[in-house]
Amino acid sequence: QDQQVMSMPWFGMDIGGSLAKLVYFEPKDITPDEANAEVETLKNIRRYLTKNSAYGKTGHRDIHLQMDNVEVRGRKGSLHFIRFPTSEMGNFLELAKSKGMATLVTTVCATGGGAYKFEDAFQREVNMNLMKFDELDSLIRGILYIETNDPKECYYFADPTSENQCHKVPYDLSNPYPFLLVNIGSGVSVLAVHGPNTYKRITGTSLGGGTFLGLCCLLTGCNTFEEAIELATGGDNTRVDKLVKDIYGGDYEKMGLPGDLVASSFMGVCSFGQMNAKDKRANVSREDLARATLVTITNNIGSIARMCASNEKINNVVFVGNFLRVNPISMKLLAHAMDYWSKGTLKALFLEHEGYFGAVGCLLGFNG
Ligand code: ADP
Repeated sequence: QDQQVMSMPWFGMDIGGSLAKLVYFEPKDITPDEANAEVETLKNIRRYLTKNSAYGKTGHRDIHLQMDNVEVRGRKGSLHFIRFPTSEMGNFLELAKSKGMATLVTTVCATGGGAYKFEDAFQREVNMNLMKFDELDSLIRGILYIETNDPKECYYFADPTSENQCHKVPYDLSNPYPFLLVNIGSGVSVLAVHGPNTYKRITGTSLGGGTFLGLCCLLTGCNTFEEAIELATGGDNTRVDKLVKDIYGGDYEKMGLPGDLVASSFMGVCSFGQMNAKDKRANVSREDLARATLVTITNNIGSIARMCASNEKINNVVFVGNFLRVNPISMKLLAHAMDYWSKGTLKALFLEHEGYFGAVGCLLGFNG
C-alpha cells in the first residue's frame, strides 16, 4: 500500500474485552511546509493528546511509558500510550467527535474484538475507517519493535521470594528466540514464538485478569482493578486457602513441599479450601479474600505456563497483559513459580509496556 494513503493522525488501537489501548504517534520532524499545510483541527488534536494526561472521566495517558525519538513509517517522533475502559467507547467517540475528528479523513489501525464490534460506530460517529489487523501478529510485532527501541524494556526479578531483597534486573532480549509468550488480559493466551513470523498459539485459559476482577468484586464489594490490587496487598491468602501444613500437619518433606506453600494448583489441594467452614469464614477480611483470589488466578496461570514451557522445551517465559499492571504481587509469584518448580531452568521475564503491544504492533502493521 502507498505510504501517502495514510494521512495523519496516526493511531494504533487494541480494543480488548476490558480495556481499549490507544497508541498515538506524534511526529517531531514536521517541516515548515508541512506545518503550513496542516489543518487547524489536526494541530488541535495533537496538542490535546500530548498536553493532557486525562481524557474525559476515564481516559488516561501513561506518561511514564512514553517513547521519544522513535521511527514509525519513516517518520521521527514520540509514541504516547493511552487507555480507557472498553465500556466507555461511546463516550470516547463523542469526545473524539467534539475535537473535530470527524472532519479529518482518518484510518485507524485496529485490532482486538472491539475492532469488529465498534467498526460501524467509528465510521458513523467520527468518520474513521478501521484497518483491521490480526491480534497475535500485532502483539508479537509490537513486542519486537519496543524491545529493539528500548534496552530497558525487559526485566526479571532476582530473589522473587524475599520481601527485602527482591529486585528488578534488566534483561537483554535482543536474541529472544525461542520464547513462550503468556498474554494475561481478560483471558489468557499462551504462544510459542520461534521467530518474528513463526509462532503458534498453544493454549489459553478463560481464567484470567477478568476472572480475578469479577470474582474480587463479588467477594469484596470492590469496584475497580486498582482497589482490588490495593486490598490484595494488605491481605493474607493463608487464612483462606488450604495449605500443605493444614493437611499434613507440618512440612511434607518427602514431596519437597514447604508447609506454608499453598498446595492448590500443584498438589490437588485447594485454593479457598478453608472457606467451607463457617468459623473460618467469619475470620477472613476483604483483604484476605482479595489476596486469595489474586493468588489463585496467578498460580493457575503459572502452572499452565510451566507445563507449556516444558512441553515446548522453551526456557524463557515472557509475561505481558494488563493483569500485571500495578501488580507486583502476581509478577513475583510468577517469577517464583517458574524458578522453583523448574529448579531454576525457567526464567520469568516481564516487559514495561505490559498491555500496549497489540496496539503498537497495529500501528506498525501498516507499512510496518
Ligand atoms: P483485554 O485486551 O482483554 O482488555 P488487557 O491486557 O487490557 O486485556 O487486560 C485486562 C485486564 O487487566 C483486566 O481483566 C484486569 O484484570 C486488568 N486491569 C489492569 N488495569 C485495569 C483497569 N484500569 N481497568 C480494568 N482492568 C484493568
